[in-house]
Amino acid sequence: MAQLHFFGATHQVTGSQHLLELADGTRILVDCGTDMELFRKRNKELFITDPVTIDVVILTHAHIDHTGLLPLLVENGFDGPVYCTHATYQLVRILLRDAARLNVRKFGKKRMKPADYYDEKMVERIWDQFITVDFSIKHPLGNSNSFVFHPNGHLLGAAAITITWTEQNKVKSILFSGDIGHNDDPLLEDPEIPGGMDFMVCESTYGGRYHEDIGNAEEIILRMIRETCVDQPGRLIVPASSVGRTQVFLYLFNRLRRAGDLPPIPVFTDSPLARKSTAIYEDFRPYLNDTAREFGDDHGSLFDFDQVTYIADMDSAEQIQNYHEPCIILTSSGMVSGGKSEDHVLMNLQNPFCTILFIGFCAEGTLGHSLLQGRSSIRLGRELTPVNARIARTDALSGHADHNGLLEYVNIQKPDKLKKIFLVHGETGSMRQLADSLSQNGFHTEIPQRNESFTI
Ligand SMILES: [Zn+2]
Repeated sequence: MAQLHFFGATHQVTGSQHLLELADGTRILVDCGTDMELFRKRNKELFITDPVTIDVVILTHAHIDHTGLLPLLVENGFDGPVYCTHATYQLVRILLRDAARLNVRKFGKKRMKPADYYDEKMVERIWDQFITVDFSIKHPLGNSNSFVFHPNGHLLGAAAITITWTEQNKVKSILFSGDIGHNDDPLLEDPEIPGGMDFMVCESTYGGRYHEDIGNAEEIILRMIRETCVDQPGRLIVPASSVGRTQVFLYLFNRLRRAGDLPPIPVFTDSPLARKSTAIYEDFRPYLNDTAREFGDDHGSLFDFDQVTYIADMDSAEQIQNYHEPCIILTSSGMVSGGKSEDHVLMNLQNPFCTILFIGFCAEGTLGHSLLQGRSSIRLGRELTPVNARIARTDALSGHADHNGLLEYVNIQKPDKLKKIFLVHGETGSMRQLADSLSQNGFHTEIPQRNESFTI
C-alpha cells in the first residue's frame, strides 16, 4: 500500500510539502515550500522526514510557499532529481536567488543565523538536480510509476500533477492540484483537469468565498484609476506578487493604453523581481492564451509601454513618496507582509488621497489582512496609526479559483472512483466549508493535520 504524509499547508496557506511513499518504496516529495506561519512562531522543524530518504521532488509551481525550502533540502542531504516545467524552472531560479539575497541582507552580519537561512552559494548548488518536463508528457519514475504535469491556470508554468503507480497488478492514481487558477485568466489558458483519479490532494484557499467581480478586470482597474488619480490628485497602490499578478496588471494596463483608455498617469513597478519575471513571461508567450499571444504578436510586447517605470533601487519607496503627482504603484508582496509593499503602504496609510487596492488572498496575521478587516487604525510598534487611505479589494485579478471554481475542478471526478480528497492550502474555516460542499456532492474528504499520514 502507498502512504501519504502531510508535512505542511495543513490548516494554513503556506508551507506546501506532501510526501507520497509508493508500495515499491519510492519516496516522492511534492513541493517544498516555505512555511510563513512556522517562521513567525520560530518553530524551526523544517523537515519532518530526513531529506536523505527522499528519492524525487516534483514541483507544482514556482511560488516560494511551494519551493522556498529546496536549498535547505539539498543542504541536508537530498541528492535526487527535482522535476518541474520549463517555465517553473526559470521562475524558481529568480525567486530562490532573490530569497537568498533577502536572507543575506537580513542575517548576513549576525553570528547566529536561523535554521532556515540560506545564501546565494547554497542556491547555486541545487540547479544541477533540476530536470524540466513539458506539460502532458508521461514521465517515468522507476519501473512502474509515472507522473504528468497538467496546466492549472494559476501562474506561468504552474501545474497539477498526476502520479500513477501499479500495486498488485492494479493501476492507482493521485492528483495533486497545486494552486488552482480560474477560467478566463487574462494571460493563461483555463485549467486542464485530469479525470478518473483514485485520490486527490486539493487546495482550498478560497473555500467558502466567492469571486464577485471576475471578468470585469479592465473596467475595475480603470474605475479605480479614475476615482483615485483623475477625480482627485491621489495615488493608487496595488500590492501584488512580483511573479504572476504583476504581469496580469501590466498586461491589462497595456491593453487599456493601446485602446486609448488609460489616463496619462505614470506607473511605477517597484518590486525587485518584476522586470526579470516579466521577461520570462515574454519568453514563454506560446504558453499563454490565444488573446494574450495575439496581443503580444500585434504590439511587439505584452507588458512594455511608455508610462511604465521599473524601479530596482533599495530606497525606491522614499523616492516615489517624494513624487507628488498622481501615480500608480505596483509593489510586492501581495499580502503586505514585509517587502517593498509594506514600505509603500505604511508611508501612505494616513494619506486620504491614496487607495490601496488588494487583488489577492491575505493570510491572517499579515498587514493586508488587518487592513481588509476595515480597522480604523493599525498598531505599529507602540503607536496607533490612523488608516485614512481608502482600502479596496477586487477578485477580478485573483490567481485562485473561488469556492465554485474549486467544486467545478473536483466535480469532474467520479465519486464512486475517487476514494478520498485531502484538503490542504487553506485556513480551517475555508477547508470545512469546501469539505461540506464536496460531501454534499458525494465525495469523501479529509482535512489532515501537520505530520499526519494516511494509507492509500
Ligand atoms: Zn501559488
